[in-house]
Amino acid sequence: MADVVTMDKIVSLARRRGFVFPSSEIYGGLGSSYDYGHYGVLLKENVKARWLEAMVRERDDIVALDSSIILNPRVWEVSGHVEGFHDPLVDCKFCKLRFRADHLDQTQCGAKPSKRPGEHDKCDLTEPRRFNLMFKTRVGPLEETGMDAYLRPETAQGIFVNFKNVAQLARRKPPFGIAQVGKAFRNEITPGNFIFRTLEFEQMEMEFFVPPAEAEEWFSYWVQERLGWYTRLGIRESHLRVREHESGELSHYSSATSDIEYLFPIGWSELEGVAHRGDYDLRAHTEGSGTKLEWVDAEAGERYIPHVVEPAAGVNRSMLAFMVDAYDEEVVAERERTVLRLHPQIAPVKVAVLPLIPRNEDISSKARALYEELRRAVVTEYDDSGQIGRRYRRQDEIGTPYALTIDEQTLADDTVTIRDRDSLEQERIAISGARAFVLDSLAQDWKSPKSD
Ligand code: ATP
Repeated sequence: MADVVTMDKIVSLARRRGFVFPSSEIYGGLGSSYDYGHYGVLLKENVKARWLEAMVRERDDIVALDSSIILNPRVWEVSGHVEGFHDPLVDCKFCKLRFRADHLDQTQCGAKPSKRPGEHDKCDLTEPRRFNLMFKTRVGPLEETGMDAYLRPETAQGIFVNFKNVAQLARRKPPFGIAQVGKAFRNEITPGNFIFRTLEFEQMEMEFFVPPAEAEEWFSYWVQERLGWYTRLGIRESHLRVREHESGELSHYSSATSDIEYLFPIGWSELEGVAHRGDYDLRAHTEGSGTKLEWVDAEAGERYIPHVVEPAAGVNRSMLAFMVDAYDEEVVAERERTVLRLHPQIAPVKVAVLPLIPRNEDISSKARALYEELRRAVVTEYDDSGQIGRRYRRQDEIGTPYALTIDEQTLADDTVTIRDRDSLEQERIAISGARAFVLDSLAQDWKSPKSD
């Protein structure tokens, strides 16, 4: 079956089912800002939970950190962000829009959307100017005496400046890593593309500190490991690829970077970057702060500045990739259905409990009891409104892998129907085994039934 997904369909589903809304919509919204509704929050939480599981819980060599969003502004001077965290910006004097000079080939002209900026007769583009992406703010009660500070544009620097604290307390020696999930802010120029690029987003970053001689090896390891994380969570391999940065493209801190790209409806685009940052950051902060950020092994008589390999992913962009990869439409019994074939471990709701005849009190009290049992274990939804077919379709659209239906037969023999979101197969199982069935199913390996 051909892939039917487009960005418009994702935006519409996200809106219709309350995953994502335009931010401050009643005031006309704010470009490149979105708010997350109930299912969006649950989906995003699952993405973060799976990342923390893979990065911290299931490993011995990585510990967690949660650093501040507003750091001492010296951090950003020393890290090179004040000087180097720029995008080239061009203005069009005709349509008054701003564009990223390096993204013109992916951008629509403001006057004629079928053309690129600069291609229409009326386009009047300025020369590119450097535009710093960091949001500035003031710390302190008085504007005049306050201090300029920045909202962090990445979570990584909070990790580097804590290197000494963590290395001493975590009793780890290189190779070891520090992982952080949290908000980052960038005053992005290029608007559009839904939650792919927003002013405010969440990052999942891990800095892996290694002996310099091992850096190359760990770099390759982390590219493969991160690729495997996406495929294990159901993203189709045919929609993922690794692209090495060319030397002119590298960030100011990086000596090598490979992007893990996903085939979004806007084309192949970065999903995650894996960067070899060398000793750039620890060396810069050692010089900037006067605190030695190095590894000292008294027994071995060793002292060195570890090199850093960094897998840096976006929560919101991953969520978009999971939704795009899962979106499917099919015709069943002459009716069209839309279904999010999400990996069950990513799906916002794991199981729905549906009393077939809600007015029947015996049925609804059995259903309610099952719901209360299940929700202690996993995110469960109880739905007794409308026809059963519509209730199934609603669960399909939010990607709920299992639906349990309680009917008259349940009253006779204590069995329920379990319906599989993808195959639509229905099976009768004992109500007493429902919880174990759902938990067992969630623990299984899973492969997308969507074709490549
Ligand atoms: P891009 O080239 O798309 O601007 P980047 O290379 O600047 O991204 P990194 O600094 O490597 O991005 O950040 C790591 C990850 O954070 C990205 O792979 C992406 O998933 C996410 N990310 C970065 N900027 C944004 C943004 N403005 N909105 C949403 N996610 C973002």
